[in-house]
Parts: sequence; C-alpha cells; structure tokens
Amino acid sequence: MIPVISKLPQAGTTIFTVMSALANELGAINLSQGFPDYDTSPELIELVNQAMKNGHNQYAPMAGVMALREEISRKTEKLYGAVYDPDTEITITAGGTQAIYTAITAVINPNDEVIIFEPAFDCYAPAIKIAGGVVKSLELEPPDYRIRWDMVKRLINNRTKMIILNSPHNPTATILHQEDIKELCAIVKNQDILILSDEVYEHLIYDGATHHSMARYPELAKRSFIVASFGKPFHATGWKVGYCMAPAFLMQEFRKVHQFLVFSVNTPIQVAIAEYLKNEDHYLGLASFFQEKRDYFREGLQNSRFEILPCSGSYFQLVRYSNITDEKDADFVIRLIKEAGVAAIPVSAFYNKGTDHHVLRFCFAKRQETLDKAVDRLIKV
Ligand code: GLN
Repeated sequence: MIPVISKLPQAGTTIFTVMSALANELGAINLSQGFPDYDTSPELIELVNQAMKNGHNQYAPMAGVMALREEISRKTEKLYGAVYDPDTEITITAGGTQAIYTAITAVINPNDEVIIFEPAFDCYAPAIKIAGGVVKSLELEPPDYRIRWDMVKRLINNRTKMIILNSPHNPTATILHQEDIKELCAIVKNQDILILSDEVYEHLIYDGATHHSMARYPELAKRSFIVASFGKPFHATGWKVGYCMAPAFLMQEFRKVHQFLVFSVNTPIQVAIAEYLKNEDHYLGLASFFQEKRDYFREGLQNSRFEILPCSGSYFQLVRYSNITDEKDADFVIRLIKEAGVAAIPVSAFYNKGTDHHVLRFCFAKRQETLDKAVDRLIKV
C-alpha cells in the first residue's frame, strides 16, 4: 500500500449515513437523518421539467443563475432588511455543506482558531481541520443548550479567526435570542473575527419567534458568511442546492474556492427555484406547516417514558431517556432500532469528545402516518 497521511485520521463515516443505512437494512422507521418522507411540490417539479425542456441544461454562471440570486436578494431584504448585491455578494452552492466547506477553506489559514458550539453539525470541525485551522469547541448542555457568552469571551485571543453559529440549531432545536445577539455584538466589536452563520433552518421557527439572521445586524453582517439551503424549505434535500451570502470582500474569496470545487451548480433547478421563490407563501407557510408536525409528534411522545426537550426551530426533536436506561446513547440507538424499529441519532455524535447526556435526536419532517407508527413503537419502550 502507498503510504497516505490522512487529513482526517479520526473521521469515520458520518452518523447520518450510518444510521440511515442501518434503518434501511433493518426496515426500521427512519427518524435519524433529517429529510422528509413526503414529496416536494408538484408545481416545483413542473418548473424543473419546464426549465429542462426550455433548454436550461448547460453550465450555469459560476456564481449561480442571476434570476435566482436576484430573488434571494429580494427575499433577504424583505425578511431581514439587508441588501445583498446579487452580482457580488450571493453565490449558489451545491447545498449548505458545500457552502460551509467553501467559506471555511476560503478564509481559514493554518493555526487560525475557530470557535464552534457543541453539539455541532458534523461538517464544521473536519472542514476547519482540513484547512489547518484549530477547533475551539465550547460544550453546551441540555435541556436548554444556551451559549455561555462569558465562556466564549475566555476562548478569544489574537488567533481567533471565526465563530460558527447555527440557528435554528441542528441537533438541539434551539434558536438564538436577542440577548445572544447583544453578547455576540459586544464580543466581536473592534475584533478581526469573522462569523459563519449556518441558517439552513431559517424558516422552520416556531411559536412566532423571530429568526435572528446575521443579515439583520450590520455589525454582524459585515463580517458574516450566511449559509442557507433550499433542501429544507422545499422538501427536496436530494437536490443539493443552497447558497451563501457575504459582503463582497468575503464573497470574492469564497468564489475563488467555489470555482475550483464545484465551478457551478445544476442549472434547471436554479431556474425553477427562481420562479418558485416569487411566491412568498412558498416559504412563509413553512413555520406553521412544521409546527403542526412538531406539536403532533410531541403530543404523541407525552405518553412515552422519554423526556421531551424544548424545540423552538429546525425539524428535530431531542429526547432524554435517563428514565429508561443508563446505556450509552450510541448503544441505546442500536437497541432502539433493532428492538423497537425506530432509528434516531445519538447526540454524542455531535460532540468531539463524544459527551453523552443520554439524549437522542428524532426528525419529525414525516407524514402523519409515519409519526403515528413511530410514536406507537416509542411509547412501548
Ligand atoms: N442535515 C441532515 C441531518 O442533520 C443530514 C445531513 C447529511 O446527511 N449530511 O440529519
């Protein structure tokens, strides 16, 4: 064998792939990897077909189809009051993960420190490490997983290059509040610290709460890459289309990497989404659509022995199972999938050190009958 020095010696296969494969193999109800089990809108599918039939089948411009960038700019201004120039400040990506990887690769140099909050979505740390950066993680704890800003302050030094935020948060289903924004502004003021804000669940926010996009706050927006996705809002995670917004000086660096990583993203879906976005109901209705599912699932779980943790956003529900067993979460999910026929994600997978608070993550972006079946099984556990 030819010797290879691994860039990611600790990495195995991502937990989402592992759990979905196991769920399929065992025929379990898959509430692990986050994706809907119902189809995207026929209208949107029709728009994709039309785009293909109308000849939109060659390379899109490197930064994305202009009509889509313009719609994103309009939507951002309407929702968050910020103006992003479609020409220089918005790039269409092959999903949120590519946008995150690209932003990190573009600006993180060897030994730059990046602060992340754990449990953290699993692509942040590897991207930082591949760039030669140093991951500085701060562990958050159930049940509320609030960010302790005094602890953040202690992590900051002159090597701190970036803070990665994620609201609504995967996996904890928490959101940033006004007080968090205030603390964050105070911390980054007069510092050369960038922000990478993963906002892929921006429209999945409940109980009338405000989504505190970095775009709303000029002090934060001027240093932020904001990452968003169309997979989540349009129930089409397999299409892998998302985008990144950032001030021109950051977007310029982002595109230098983007052009050599994917060059551009598939054209017909961009053309279709540009059209579909013109109707704001297509995204404004999502909060109530998913809130209904959240409430339905939570109500069903009331009759179980699982402790239901708060859920303010995203399509994930965390549960603590300390009343049921003291097994490790990684062991318990395997038993749950084999004995109860329901797949979940063990939240320890989102901690670098594997910290185990006996919490599991379920995805409730499912048809009612799927949730019914899952709840039936979970109340027997
Ligand atoms: N975002 C989805 C989740 O958290 C899955 C992402 C993936 O499979 N890479 O489950």
